[in-house]
Amino acid sequence: MTRINDKIDIKSLLPEELSALLKEMGQPGYRAGQLFSWLSGGCGDWEEMTNLPKTLRTALSESSHLYAPKVLRRQESAQDGTIKFLWELYDGNAVETVVMRYHYGNTVCISSQVGCAQGCAFCASAIGGKIRDLTASEMLDEVIWSEKESGLPVGHIVLMGIGEPLDNFDNVMRFLELVNHPRGRNIGMRHISLSTCGILERFDDLAERDLQLTLSVSLHAPDDETRSRLMPANRGRGVDELFRKCGEYYRRTGRRISFEYAMIDGVNDSPEQAELLARRVKPLGAHVNLIPLNHVDERRFEPSSPESLRRFTEILTKNGVNVTVRRRLGSDVDASCGQLRRKTVRETK
Ligand code: SAH
Repeated sequence: MTRINDKIDIKSLLPEELSALLKEMGQPGYRAGQLFSWLSGGCGDWEEMTNLPKTLRTALSESSHLYAPKVLRRQESAQDGTIKFLWELYDGNAVETVVMRYHYGNTVCISSQVGCAQGCAFCASAIGGKIRDLTASEMLDEVIWSEKESGLPVGHIVLMGIGEPLDNFDNVMRFLELVNHPRGRNIGMRHISLSTCGILERFDDLAERDLQLTLSVSLHAPDDETRSRLMPANRGRGVDELFRKCGEYYRRTGRRISFEYAMIDGVNDSPEQAELLARRVKPLGAHVNLIPLNHVDERRFEPSSPESLRRFTEILTKNGVNVTVRRRLGSDVDASCGQLRRKTVRETK
């Protein structure tokens, strides 16, 4: 059971765990359902839970931590309606959530950690390192509060914000259980994507859970030299081992993997790299998602030219690889990982 400031992190409990807790407090069985409804609805104040007796509310407020994130900043894209929130957490830290409008429905992109320990050379989230993991309840709050504040019902979730989800495995798994719960937000696993830089030690644990979610692997280069230069997570693991583990995951779960590939000018966008990439992903029947690099002030990389992007895509397609080029939503609101938090940290220092 997660504890925050020595109190029970109540919003991270599943209905059966709430039942056990309330039973210990001498409460009737139906109270757990009432409490779970309040919590999964985002309620951050015991006083609002008016169908619970006052004595119970007081007892819970003494034993349990309850918090609702506050909006520090909100930016809305004039181009495509993408909304980005910067939230203040209970301890004064801040994380970002982005709400994107796609033709198939609204998608929320959530953060899993405050900062990130992975150190990818092109990513804004890595600057300043990892401060701490988010709790399951904080990730759930990102979904609930983005929906409340934007007024947009959310049907899809991507774990592609700040942080490395597989480096916060237990909390992320619990968050998935909570958000997927039929009596909670009830968001289907098929509507959830989890993105990782490739923490291979966790692939078996994830496969074991046999979740119907989509695993996205941030590849960004098909060769060790480039990948290790861009992504420290590749060092000591290597691209061969990454693909071996991806193959295993695919065979065990039957779920196709999606590879993310940020196109960086003169670094990973050569025709040879496209050929190698095609050879690597083909046996996995995997999907490749090309993302024109988002410019980050502190980073020296630039996006590939439209011409390189076109040539790269053509080579993949010619080799029978299923490829899409991601639309850049919210580029006028710093909507790439960690940029808004970064900017705010910079401005207030
Ligand atoms: N840590 C996880 C999830 C967070 S990042 C992971 O690495 O997958 C979500 C995606 O955005 C990753 O594919 C990441 O590599 C990519 N990304 C980070 N900075 C970017 C930038 N400046 N431009 C384009 N994509 C970027």
